[in-house]
Amino acid sequence: AEGWVTQDNKRGSYAVCLANNNQDLLEEMQKLLKGFGYQVYRRKNVIRVRDYQLFCYLKQFGKCSDKFIPKEIKSLSKKYLEILLRYYLKGDGHIHGRTQKGLSATTSSIHLRDDLQEIALKIGISAYYKMHSKKGSPFRSPCTGKIYSQRGDVWVVYFIRQNNHTIMPSTIKKFNYTESWVDYKGKVYCISVPNRVIYVRRNGIPVWCGNSDPPMNWRLSKLDKFSLVSNSDSHSPQRIGREANVFDCEVNYWEIKRVLEAKDKDKFLYTVEFFPQEGKYHYDGHRNCKVRLHPKETKKHGGICPVCGRPLTRGVLNRVEELADREEGFVPQNSIGYKSLVPLSEIIAEARGMDRSSKAVEKEYVKLVREFGSEFNLLVNVEENQLFSQLPPKIAEGIKKVREGKLNILPGFDGEYGVIKIFDQTEDKSKDAQLTLF
Ligand SMILES: [Zn+2]
Repeated sequence: AEGWVTQDNKRGSYAVCLANNNQDLLEEMQKLLKGFGYQVYRRKNVIRVRDYQLFCYLKQFGKCSDKFIPKEIKSLSKKYLEILLRYYLKGDGHIHGRTQKGLSATTSSIHLRDDLQEIALKIGISAYYKMHSKKGSPFRSPCTGKIYSQRGDVWVVYFIRQNNHTIMPSTIKKFNYTESWVDYKGKVYCISVPNRVIYVRRNGIPVWCGNSDPPMNWRLSKLDKFSLVSNSDSHSPQRIGREANVFDCEVNYWEIKRVLEAKDKDKFLYTVEFFPQEGKYHYDGHRNCKVRLHPKETKKHGGICPVCGRPLTRGVLNRVEELADREEGFVPQNSIGYKSLVPLSEIIAEARGMDRSSKAVEKEYVKLVREFGSEFNLLVNVEENQLFSQLPPKIAEGIKKVREGKLNILPGFDGEYGVIKIFDQTEDKSKDAQLTLF
């Protein structure tokens, strides 16, 4: 479809035009516009509406190469975004492929290209883009039929309606994209999100990613030269500080910058980490088949589910295994240490056998933090004998277990969250009895 606005200041005429060779679609558009109360004129494959307000609204979207979808539209609900994309594709989309299931849209606007990809993500389908034709290529206008020369690069956005949970799209290989290590000068983000699944887009290829922790990063020698930081998600206040960087230096920008650049181990003491195993895609597996596999086991099975015989959904650790040039457990010489912590409220909740959002847990949490100054102080610094003399024994034991890393970890897989348990289910019940005294 082609749309444009015209204005004739002398005559005070402002028109919005729409051209399409599909008469059925034009008919539908005409009906829709009439429904909004506009007077619609139609001639051959062009419909025209004379309206100053609509003219002004649409004028902001500029020429083809700077078209975009405004923020207020992009933040509509999934339902409305689906309608938007459906109509966008009716006008500007292409159906292709042997089975007529391929769906794509062409645009010369980088802004619009990215907006379409964003909308696809929001309605739960994948999209990637490729260069369609370079600036200067000839093209035929669907409206006038004349041949023009392209004023800029043109992109084609492909929509993949079937959304499988793979972390790395296999389509990358199919379309001859190659992977390689490149120097990157852009910004690097350390992020955490509630469901631990992160959508990353680079050169048009969207990839689902997950969190890693230092031992995972240490397996890749290329990362040795970097000081890796660990930052919190702050989607809810109590999550702030769940991940952190511990420095022993002057707290100012220049000093911290120096410490990070020099990877100064005397000043950058350690990072506080969350367990990446809790992520929904840490191990490989099949949720429905109840198959949870370490990447090494996946390899033994040839990537195939031993229950249903279909390819396994690969997780973050599998990708690490693929990229790694060192064995699991390797610790580089100049590495910065780390501590994996479990939030105090979760330790209390598990010790008490209660929900972590319960009032009783919150009360105890606030009491302990008041007593010991901060959650970090209690989890990291307070001496063990002090813990046992001043805390309910099971909570003290829980903190000790977290410090020693003696936890039962069931890594997440195929969309299932991982589970971290501090206490063995089978552990002796007398401790629970003891706890009720407090
Ligand atoms: Zn299976």
